[in-house]
Amino acid sequence: MEENLRKKLESGPLNFESYFSQKALGMKASEIRELLKLVETSNVISLAGGLPNPKTFPIDILKEILEEVITEHADKALQYGTTKGFTPLRLAIAKWLRKRYDIPTSKVDIMITSGSQQALDLIGRVFIDPGDIVVVEAPTYLAALQAFSFYEPTYIQIPLDDEGMKTDVLEERLRKLKAEGKKVKLVYTVPTFQNPAGVTMAEERRKHLIELASEFDFIIVEDDPYGELRYSGKPVPKVKALDDEGRVLYLGTFSKILSPGFRLGWIAGEPHFIRKLEIAKQSVDLCTNAFGQVVAWRYLDGGHLERHIPKIIEFYKPRRDAMLDALERYMPEGVRWTRPEGGMFVWVTLPENINATAMLERAVAKGVAYVPGEAFYAHRDVKNTMRLNFTYVDEAQIEEGIKRLAETIKELL
Ligand SMILES: *Cc1c(COP(=O)(O)O)cnc(C)c1O
Repeated sequence: MEENLRKKLESGPLNFESYFSQKALGMKASEIRELLKLVETSNVISLAGGLPNPKTFPIDILKEILEEVITEHADKALQYGTTKGFTPLRLAIAKWLRKRYDIPTSKVDIMITSGSQQALDLIGRVFIDPGDIVVVEAPTYLAALQAFSFYEPTYIQIPLDDEGMKTDVLEERLRKLKAEGKKVKLVYTVPTFQNPAGVTMAEERRKHLIELASEFDFIIVEDDPYGELRYSGKPVPKVKALDDEGRVLYLGTFSKILSPGFRLGWIAGEPHFIRKLEIAKQSVDLCTNAFGQVVAWRYLDGGHLERHIPKIIEFYKPRRDAMLDALERYMPEGVRWTRPEGGMFVWVTLPENINATAMLERAVAKGVAYVPGEAFYAHRDVKNTMRLNFTYVDEAQIEEGIKRLAETIKELL
């Protein structure tokens, strides 16, 4: 005993790093996240969040549904389920896609996932070999980059403007790649109220994207967590609704329209693709949380979601308006921003000589936080942008936050 203990003390602590896989060694925590963690506990107005507002959670209805589920559906809710998901929920989602989005679901299969995040990881597993070319928007959703990067793709960035991904630039790149004997495997897009940029891809571009997919033979991942949260402007068809070759995998989620705590999302796509994704999911978690699926089924099937969405919109729209008003009022010349018709974010572009990552500490000292834009670029090659969230704090805080942010920027001009 004593001998063992002495040996242990002599050899020192384990060399933890030496046990990790090469892939794990490549995973890094973001410094920004660490800095933003500090913000949560101080008086800083945080426009950095990415969270829905808890005041939009439908607590009263959920109380009733939970009671119903535990008394009437415990056999399903407390049991293992199938990997593809609880069938009544899958059917209710199919109906939703047909009714609201004109997606013809007869040729589409649906698998429930542990949030869209799992769908992104499964798509990486099933479609991406190291070196495969994946096209992303610039900027794009950070968590998608994190999920895909594990599978070591080569990224191509396509710039965005107020009408979403510039598909003319994409076409140019595709032609060039083809001439070099290269091929794009997958295009990832958040076409509606994009995270982080807030912009929406115009209908013409959606059609163009579908044409390009057909001509250059790639698949499209349409990530659509915000589509229901429209505060102004006219609806645009889903990319999936324009897809008659089965090239689009459509990702939906309950996170922004019910609650992210349920961790419930879905993939709708060609049955052949879904079958492989299902096999991939089996080894990850066997099945998605069955209890949540039964609750979500009662919520959707009972018409509660349809009735609740207008309330979320009513709650968020004044905040969006407050942010755009405040930007107009306080921002100095040379600062540009997007004007989202829905979703949760505004994207701000500073004059090129201001580094938004470096500016964050100064902003926090002035009492406001944001997410620097750098991490939202696959190539991390743009430094003068930032993402602002308008769903978490109230209108007065938004105004004060933007005022403080404008003061910070003015100091650096
Ligand atoms: C919030 C969000 C999601 C949702 O992810 P979940 O895992 O379903 O919570 C997916 N994609 C984008 C772009 C998002 O902003």
